[in-house]
Amino acid sequence: MKIAILSRDQTLYSTKSLVAACKRRGHEVRVIDYLRCHMNITSRRPTIYLGDEELTGYDAIIPRIGATHTFFGCAVVRQFEMMGVYPANESVAISRSRDKLRSLQLLAREGIGLPVTGFAHDPRATSHLVNLVGGAPLVIKLLEGTQGVGVVLAETRQAAESVIEAFRGLNANILAQEFIKEAGGADIRCFVIGDRVVASMKRQAKEGDFRSNLHRGGVASVVKITPEERATAVRAANVIGLNVAGVDLLRSNHGPVVMEVNSSPGLEGIETATGKDVAGMIIEFLEKNAVKGKTKTRGQG
Ligand code: ADP
Repeated sequence: MKIAILSRDQTLYSTKSLVAACKRRGHEVRVIDYLRCHMNITSRRPTIYLGDEELTGYDAIIPRIGATHTFFGCAVVRQFEMMGVYPANESVAISRSRDKLRSLQLLAREGIGLPVTGFAHDPRATSHLVNLVGGAPLVIKLLEGTQGVGVVLAETRQAAESVIEAFRGLNANILAQEFIKEAGGADIRCFVIGDRVVASMKRQAKEGDFRSNLHRGGVASVVKITPEERATAVRAANVIGLNVAGVDLLRSNHGPVVMEVNSSPGLEGIETATGKDVAGMIIEFLEKNAVKGKTKTRGQG
């Protein structure tokens, strides 16, 4: 196959791992900086260019769209879809996953376990919002945050109201969430490909923090997940419409709750912690599923 990896940086571990896996499995592969692409949106023959070179003949793309470039990145993925190229993850699913609130609403509709979550605009609703999620302590999250930035644990009602007020003053969208104390500063990352969890790891926050992000000093280790956790992760990825996803779960005393579904999950942490060839499994998925002209969203955007 001829595979394009849409990534801004060839030197990232995840990108390099995917390139190596493609080569190992005998495919032609190229890393394309999607921000350097431009496209011709025409009904007869949609095309995409990198500089003055037309990009043709690709069987599949692997989108690795950064959170700060979701809009343009998804437009590029969509253009490939219009051309009949099979994406590891479809543009609509990537857009869905990038809107935390929309994702939670979709997951809730399907009855998937979530931390109790509230969202409001009007500052007059703040006090009720805090009650809604069970009072203090509670977690307040910036809707646009990533890698744990803008995730705050408010220990008291007063602290919660001040933080909400401050964020609102900056015109930021925030959500309030029940604090899952019993998770003990750990979360479970389930790496889903197709309808399987192919690898999972536990991330433990460093001493004194409740956020387990590896970028914030969290430590990863292998974990055996329960059948319920496995089923929850696969369903969550499925609801968002992602073939390749990193589903983050917390172990709460009312069962596994989904915190987030990531559409460009990093490979370094999970491959290092588990020793599994996750990149190879992504390519294997494409080998089985990438049929030219058979993108599900073709023409439906
Ligand atoms: P980001 O998308 O910025 O990583 P998350 O919502 O995943 O933000 O939160 C970062 C970390 O904070 C999580 O990995 C988890 O360890 C912790 N965390 C987030 N929400 C809760 C919660 N409601 N209860 C307990 N811990 C939480």
